[in-house]
Amino acid sequence: MKYFLPDSQDLVDPSFDFDRERRSTTRLRQRDDLYAHEIFKDGVCDGLLVSKGIVDGFGATGGRYTLAQRQRLLRTGAPDFFRIENAPGAKLPIMGDCGAFTYVNEEVPPYSVDEVTEFYLDCRFDFGISVDHVILAYRPEFDEPGASIPEELRKRQDVTLELARQFLAKQQGERLPFTPLGVAQGWSPKSYAHSTRELQKMGYRYIAVGGMVPLKTPDILASLEAIDSIRGKDTRLHLLGVTRTEQLGAFARMGVASFDSTSPLRQAFKDDKDNYYTPTRTYTAIRIPQVEGNPKLQKRIMAGKVSQEKARELEKGCMVAMRRFDAGEVDLESTLDVLQRYDELCDVAERREVYREVLADRPWKSCPCDVCRTIGHHVILFRGAERNRRRGFHNTWVFYKELQRDVEAAAIAAPRGASSRNARTRLPEVGT
Ligand SMILES: [Zn+2]
Repeated sequence: MKYFLPDSQDLVDPSFDFDRERRSTTRLRQRDDLYAHEIFKDGVCDGLLVSKGIVDGFGATGGRYTLAQRQRLLRTGAPDFFRIENAPGAKLPIMGDCGAFTYVNEEVPPYSVDEVTEFYLDCRFDFGISVDHVILAYRPEFDEPGASIPEELRKRQDVTLELARQFLAKQQGERLPFTPLGVAQGWSPKSYAHSTRELQKMGYRYIAVGGMVPLKTPDILASLEAIDSIRGKDTRLHLLGVTRTEQLGAFARMGVASFDSTSPLRQAFKDDKDNYYTPTRTYTAIRIPQVEGNPKLQKRIMAGKVSQEKARELEKGCMVAMRRFDAGEVDLESTLDVLQRYDELCDVAERREVYREVLADRPWKSCPCDVCRTIGHHVILFRGAERNRRRGFHNTWVFYKELQRDVEAAAIAAPRGASSRNARTRLPEVGT
């Protein structure tokens, strides 16, 4: 099972000085900043996923790429743009898709098959996913006999299948140099199976299953089971945008050869509590917001309820306390006291007990990843993009290591040469 890390231009500045919070004056973002796959000596993913919607800045994703970056990507191709030669091991394959979630609210996809294939060729992708339209409703009751299925759902599925047909015809007719994936969209187990059957009939042998992002694990499993019941032996699946990763073993048994997920990265700074991964549990990061970058606190300062100097003093006190705690110079309770005083001033809910857990365990001390080894306790501070993104990279690395371990265990459990039923549980290879 291969893990593709979706791109959204998450880079970190290696010149960033964490103690002084300064950058090198000679730093050039596009030349010097690093992607996750350039940071870890032992790898952090099996491939990258690049979405046209994000590159174009469609919908709410605008602003990830500047015009100059977009032009450079199209001119040099994705392997150069992402400097994949810096990733350890075999060459990282790059998969392209349209980023259907960026245009989910449009009536029809905003891209033609010609536009998309041109984008894939310019980017020199190894895999290209057909143009699709997400169906946001999951309604298994429509599988009951006699249920009437809303026109809107059928239309999105029909559009997706028709675009897949055109996409494959173009790819095969012009012998375009990437492996094509057709997208299966559905609203229920049977409708996902229907899409898959149609795509197989067209000739697809690698099928991306879309629309799974908001689904709960039992719904994903039910849909995959239905797909599995009609899946050809040589058909592999890619799960688009997985947030439920606890059932990856079951997914693999049902033909899932690859998937992508931004969850480990995003949770570092989007989640209320699960910000820092370890192999056994997650921890909450220590929030020390900058006085200047905290709108709620700024409002209180403007209203004269809080003194700006006092706020700055407490903020700085937290940074010093964390540094000294990490060095073993101050104890747990007095560190918690300092953090609590700043929290009270910022008027946020009591976090002393969750902070006690993470400070008592000091998980960053025992993490062998390149981020934690390099920046130490700064990885656990919820503060600014340089720290938060690195914590996201750490999470992705922890997640990937766990995945590799699971894949290895599954491979041992289902050795080659087993019966055909067992052969199904073997993990399929993705590309070369
Ligand atoms: Zn780490």
